[in-house]
Amino acid sequence: MALIVQKYGGSSVADADSIKRVAKRIVDTRRGGHDVVVAVSAMGDTTDELLDLAHAVAPIPAPRELDMLLSSGERISMALLAMAIHSMGFEARSFTGSQAGMITTAEHGSARIVDVTPFRVREALDDGAIVIVAGFQGFNRDTRDITTLGRGGSDTTAVALAAALDADVCEIYSDVDGIFTADPRVVPRARKLNVVSAEEMLELAANGAKVLYIRAVEYARRHGVMINARSTFSSGQGTYVLAEGMTAPEGSEADQMEEPVVAGVATDLSQAKITVIGVPDVPGKAAEIFKIVARSGANVDMIVQNVSAAATGRTDISFTLPKAAASAALRALAHEQADVGFENLVHDDQIGKLSVVGAGMRAHSGVSATLFEALSTTGINIEMISTSEIRISVVVRGDDLAEAARVVHTAYGLDGDTEAVVYAGTGR
Ligand code: ASP
Ligand code: MG
Repeated sequence: MALIVQKYGGSSVADADSIKRVAKRIVDTRRGGHDVVVAVSAMGDTTDELLDLAHAVAPIPAPRELDMLLSSGERISMALLAMAIHSMGFEARSFTGSQAGMITTAEHGSARIVDVTPFRVREALDDGAIVIVAGFQGFNRDTRDITTLGRGGSDTTAVALAAALDADVCEIYSDVDGIFTADPRVVPRARKLNVVSAEEMLELAANGAKVLYIRAVEYARRHGVMINARSTFSSGQGTYVLAEGMTAPEGSEADQMEEPVVAGVATDLSQAKITVIGVPDVPGKAAEIFKIVARSGANVDMIVQNVSAAATGRTDISFTLPKAAASAALRALAHEQADVGFENLVHDDQIGKLSVVGAGMRAHSGVSATLFEALSTTGINIEMISTSEIRISVVVRGDDLAEAARVVHTAYGLDGDTEAVVYAGTGR
């Protein structure tokens, strides 16, 4: 008998029939002799609809009240799910985030879980009940207010519960079959992975993969929680995300897999590039520029500095950042142009970032050569390059990104034999 935490995303509980289907799945797990704790998201697009409502009554909704409002979405689904389970003859008890002991920092809209005190969850389990916890929300001890964890936060609720209860596995259910070697909508030959390391999953998520939320994967890695990402709409085994030292459950598809050098290819169209032209090539200029950018609130990703022209003693510095942060960064830089002494600013929001991720890169040579070769035979120009221990990223034209992803996917031998089945899945 195991303790299993399951998380169901909004698309899995979008209407009454879906809620009944999920209830059946939960009851089946219970019938298998396991204790079950469920974290549930708000139904369908409820959170977006509540956000729209909030903005319809106030241009800038008060953050405390916004959290009161948004947290109600998950209370609806938790209660309905518990009712559906009841009517199948099983005991179920629902709890809000604060009742379940999800203690967070105080920031409304982006609180972080700092402690989990799941006394009532344990009690209910001891009584033989199935426990349903509202995802995405918690409670701050100092302000005594309800908080929310940021969009997609129910993944983190599930993982934090799994850690606190020492669960055997945290199953995250959505409308896609698991983690793929690439986004199947971009690369039709993408394959579902049976297993991926948490380290690789973090790099994939940070570089554009949207199936799992990065905070949840980080939490799982830190606390040694095994995640199993799978679909509510199929009976596939999904993908196991394994932290260090973990092995996939015996008898699973992931049981005896050979580790490929490259786990997957991530694509990201959400970034823009800023080039600062004619920067005096003297010590301290990069520091000045990136202090200004940081103060504007932007999170810089890649940076490239050119060799300076001997004749002018000036250089160009390019960097990438989220598109949404670009205008504030440009304004801040323009404001201090005279002080820094650069000549010009160029903004480019037509870029795409392609990343190849694989823990096997540590031990294999030639991984980057394969990437560059694949792009060059296709005539795709590389504009920037950056690497980590287990990742190589390049910036290309946004229009070239999909083709680049396909040829690179093929070059690393990742293509499946058949085209991936794509439901209109969002991964949520
Ligand atoms: N309902 C919240 C959202 O849509 C949290 C979640 O789904 O995980 O972002
Ligand atoms: Mg949602």
